[in-house]
Amino acid sequence: MSYYNAYGLVYKYPWLEGGREMFDPIVESESAEPLVDYYNRLFSDYFSIYPELYQKLLDVFIFALDKKESGIVLTDDKLNIILFYTVKTLLTAFDNRILDNHVANLLSKLYHKRLLQENPQDLVIISKKMGLPCHFDRKGKDFGGVIHHFWVEIHQYVPIAALLRDSNYQLINRMVQNGKVFLIKDHMARLLQEVARREIIPDHQGISGELLTLLKKINPISAIINEIAIIIEEKKYSQSPYEKTNVYENMVYVLYPPCIKFILNKATNGVNLTHSERLHIAFFYANTNHTVEETVDVFRTLPDFDEKIARYNIEFSRGIGGKGKKYSVYSCAKLKSIKLCKATDKEYGDPICAEGVYRKGHGDTKVPIKNPKDFVFWKNVEIQRKLQNIPKK
Ligand code: SF4
Repeated sequence: MSYYNAYGLVYKYPWLEGGREMFDPIVESESAEPLVDYYNRLFSDYFSIYPELYQKLLDVFIFALDKKESGIVLTDDKLNIILFYTVKTLLTAFDNRILDNHVANLLSKLYHKRLLQENPQDLVIISKKMGLPCHFDRKGKDFGGVIHHFWVEIHQYVPIAALLRDSNYQLINRMVQNGKVFLIKDHMARLLQEVARREIIPDHQGISGELLTLLKKINPISAIINEIAIIIEEKKYSQSPYEKTNVYENMVYVLYPPCIKFILNKATNGVNLTHSERLHIAFFYANTNHTVEETVDVFRTLPDFDEKIARYNIEFSRGIGGKGKKYSVYSCAKLKSIKLCKATDKEYGDPICAEGVYRKGHGDTKVPIKNPKDFVFWKNVEIQRKLQNIPKK
């Protein structure tokens, strides 16, 4: 039995039908009013009714860019709707995809936690309203010793599951019967988290410049815009371990092989990684002097980041706990076979990978490198030669 009234749901999940109208209720008589006056009045009201709004908004951006997950408490009243749509408005104005992804990842994770707390009947209602209807089967289906109580029609499951890029959600790894994909509650909440993540990211229809100019004329909002702009500027110098140049002894960004740079860029932008990409990073970091902490930090920006799971997997790949087996770096042959090699990629490719290197005993013929650690070695050689003006061969 659901305890929600009509407003209850939309207060908790503001992107549902009616949420935008509650945030921005333009009425006929006001439509003649200049837009800047209208929004000035609207936000002045909101900031005076909810004095905590200012700090909450700032926290969303600060925490998102700091990749922190806790510290923000979502309310389940109108303030939550105002927070959601003001964040979206600011994202539209900033027109910055990295900011979009960081903020969307942070908020969608908070909504994931919220969805997990729903009872099954409410989760069914919410999923329908979110366009990914699930059904609850009290008896459920036993799959691998775990009872799966929820199911989604296969044609509705596939497009969302594909966005997760997690092999765990591939049909081959799921229980499918008569066109129904059976799931546990956590899986269902994770799928809905992805739907929510997409609701947070704005459409970006080329109105950012105009919108930013307008918002800068609105008092409390313009102050927030300035603060966010400063944070973004500051973060340029401390974005992530791989953009710094002094993090590891002998290990600077330029020494990372193309296949690793490509994955790090995805992670920095908050884009989901495939299972193989996660393993490649974990194994490469484990074998190149990176700490567990530095490796966890790579995964911190991912939409499905779970510190406990990430830490466990990373430690496992280093032989800490479990059977004590430390995994080696993938070979280039293996990486090519699973399509992770970026030797000739326009942005990340490098002649060392694409053409090979001159090695003793091979005359004038270039020899392909065998694994990404070779790249680090040969790139270092190349840099040292350049610094000392030594010809290539
Ligand atoms: S050649 Fe090896 S190191 Fe270079 S991008 Fe391909 S897989 Fe990575």
